[in-house]
Amino acid sequence: MVLSNTDLDFDAIVIGAGISGLYQLYRLRELGLRVRVFERGTGVGGTWYWNRYPGARFDSESYSYAYSFSQDLLDEWDWSEHFASQPEILRYLQHVADKFDLLKDIQFSSAVKSAVYHDGTRSWEIRLQDGNSYRSRFLITGIGNLSQPTLPKIEGIESFEGKSFHTSRWPHAPVNFAGKRVAVIGTGATGVQTIQEVSKDVGHLTVFQRRPNWCAPLHNSEIEPDEMEVIRAGYDAMFERCAQTRSGFIHTVDPRGTFEVTAEERYEFWEQLYAGRGFGIWQGNFKDILTDPKANKAISDFIADKIRERVNDPLVAEKLIPKDQGFGTRRVPLETNYYESYNRENVELIDINETPIERITQNGILTTEKELEFDFIIYATGFDAVFGSYNAIDIRGVNQRKLKDQWEEELATLLGIQTNNFPNLFMIMGPHAMQGNNPRNIEFNVEWITAKFLEKMAEGDGKPIHESTPHEARAFASEISELAGPAPKMERVEERTIEGTDGEATLRILVPFEYSRGVLVYYHGGGWVTGSPDEYDTVARKLAERTSCAVVLVEYRLAPEHRYPTAVDDSYVALEWVGEHLSEIAGQEVPLIVAGDGSGGNLAAVTAIRARDRSGPPIALQVLIYPVTDADFDRPSYSDPENGFLLTRDAMIWYWDQYLPESSRRTEPGASPLHTENFQGLPPAVILTAEHDVLRDEGEAYAARLQEAHVPTDLQRYVGQMHGFFTLLMLPGSELGFQQVVRAVRACTARAHKSQTI
Ligand code: NAP
Repeated sequence: MVLSNTDLDFDAIVIGAGISGLYQLYRLRELGLRVRVFERGTGVGGTWYWNRYPGARFDSESYSYAYSFSQDLLDEWDWSEHFASQPEILRYLQHVADKFDLLKDIQFSSAVKSAVYHDGTRSWEIRLQDGNSYRSRFLITGIGNLSQPTLPKIEGIESFEGKSFHTSRWPHAPVNFAGKRVAVIGTGATGVQTIQEVSKDVGHLTVFQRRPNWCAPLHNSEIEPDEMEVIRAGYDAMFERCAQTRSGFIHTVDPRGTFEVTAEERYEFWEQLYAGRGFGIWQGNFKDILTDPKANKAISDFIADKIRERVNDPLVAEKLIPKDQGFGTRRVPLETNYYESYNRENVELIDINETPIERITQNGILTTEKELEFDFIIYATGFDAVFGSYNAIDIRGVNQRKLKDQWEEELATLLGIQTNNFPNLFMIMGPHAMQGNNPRNIEFNVEWITAKFLEKMAEGDGKPIHESTPHEARAFASEISELAGPAPKMERVEERTIEGTDGEATLRILVPFEYSRGVLVYYHGGGWVTGSPDEYDTVARKLAERTSCAVVLVEYRLAPEHRYPTAVDDSYVALEWVGEHLSEIAGQEVPLIVAGDGSGGNLAAVTAIRARDRSGPPIALQVLIYPVTDADFDRPSYSDPENGFLLTRDAMIWYWDQYLPESSRRTEPGASPLHTENFQGLPPAVILTAEHDVLRDEGEAYAARLQEAHVPTDLQRYVGQMHGFFTLLMLPGSELGFQQVVRAVRACTARAHKSQTI
């Protein structure tokens, strides 16, 4: 197992033993890795270990908010309520830990103080608060996005002599409120759950509210055994639905607009939702309640009337109705008799905008009106969301760069899972991760980290390209291309096989609209060894859609089976064929453009030169994306250690060895277009280079030669980007590159169109 490195204490360290950490541990162990989980609590559960406040429970349906990965677990676990309470949830997670024998790899009472990446050994050093430190190759954070509590900044908070707790740091032993004077500060989802529960048995409860929230009924109930069987039978369909819905909940947005139905139908629907379970009224409402201000006002008025109906004192009811936000624009707390709590004699609501808190005293809380004495103060004041958990650990990456500093400058992540400069650090539920039905997203994150990344590294033996066989290199390239995601639909897709010089080349013609504004012949990258139209399909379709040009993907024959100049010959034959069939492809006479990335950029440049020299089809524009233009591995961009992402110097040497082993021929202009003597008369060029790419300097040298020869050339270096950024569509840099290419192609086709119409 190449992922394993016995010089290090562990192969992977996971921080946190909540829903994220437990599942990640399970999956890493399946890969055969040596894993250690560090957890600061004394047991598993994460959120559900810490949040033990009275009334804490799921407000998503229990069965939708649990793991889906194990059929066995789904088969054997019965939920007792539609919205399980914290003790039951904790029992569930303890059961998971036992069932999968996870405890042996979890070290409790172990808060992580720092995590530092060492460039030399390419490993992470994790130091605990107790001073012990451990090394591993991979670091995975399962630290939650709501785990660092925030206390209000109120003067005197330390002076209170009664008992006080933040809801997420609740004592493990039961707290007896009978007959006591209790204050709750905060009326978010947590405050609401706490208030409605505590109000039942306190002597007197005072709620300090800064802003009310729009709350809706939870409608919890027990699950009878036969109902559980029905739920179980529907698991597959339910998880499938969660994968499709907004935020992963089981509720599906109603496709109708609020005012597309009669007033009677509208109110009937809302009554049904209000009487229904869970987030239906928020997530399953009309499609426009969060986008049309009039629709939002209508549903807000509906809920406000419900509050007025349920709260006896009209003045209190008005205080509980939000005036500064519409329904659903903030997270909707779900409640059980929350509003009725305020009908109790022993419950008082203080709006701190009217009656501000001045300070906390030894005995209680001093407002601008009077001092109120309390036995308990409960802070339901929320969390330092997302960043709090990361900032609590001193995390440093390449060159000791602090994660906190990097994110203060720019918050950029790959799917919220990885971030630049922090190699082999994976975040579960990191910034940019979907918020909503968290366990659904946690499973997605863990699957991505394990199956899409680590497993593939293991399968490919984690070998660098230059130690791989062409077969292995192709498998890796194909995996990476899967990240491109879904592709836009085309008006027409055609495959054509054409005669090459001594064989056949295949073309995939992607036509976005009935009439195209140009035809762009695209040569894929992959070091002349890997890549295919399938792998470039999404990129090509997106280019087609955004440029309004037909894109022709060329399946040229690959090395080492077919060495130089086969790829060049195939590329040129394809260009000639397209040149002859322009109006058939585009529905009209349009400009012809060549484009390609990496080795495909090399083929595009070489083809443009050949077309000029052989009086071939006129080319209106060449788009060269980090093109290979030379075989000189001594340029500075090859030796900069920051330039090794996705393509290294060794890999480039290996690609050339496959493509053109005789090094004496590599300076032929057909292989290295930078060695072309005459650049005059070549088509205008758009050249993209990446700052951290070994190919950067040769791409820029090519631009300089074109400019010297007065060929209009638009060169753009993408700062902070690595080789391959253009086709990694999920990266923000890719979008910037796309915008430049789309602008250039559109300008070129617009010019041609204008000259035709004049
Ligand atoms: P929250 O939504 O951030 O609410 C914090 C509350 O404290 C707000 O009412 C806030 O008022 C108030 N507050 C903060 N500082 C204050 C101050 N200095 N003085 C007075 N009031 C102050 O936190 P939360 O209720 O703990 O909920 C956080 C998240 O946890 C939720 O969004 C939800 O995602 C999750 N949660 C989930 C469940 C569940 O699944 N069952 C249950 C509870 C929570 P303002 O509104 O004026 O800021």
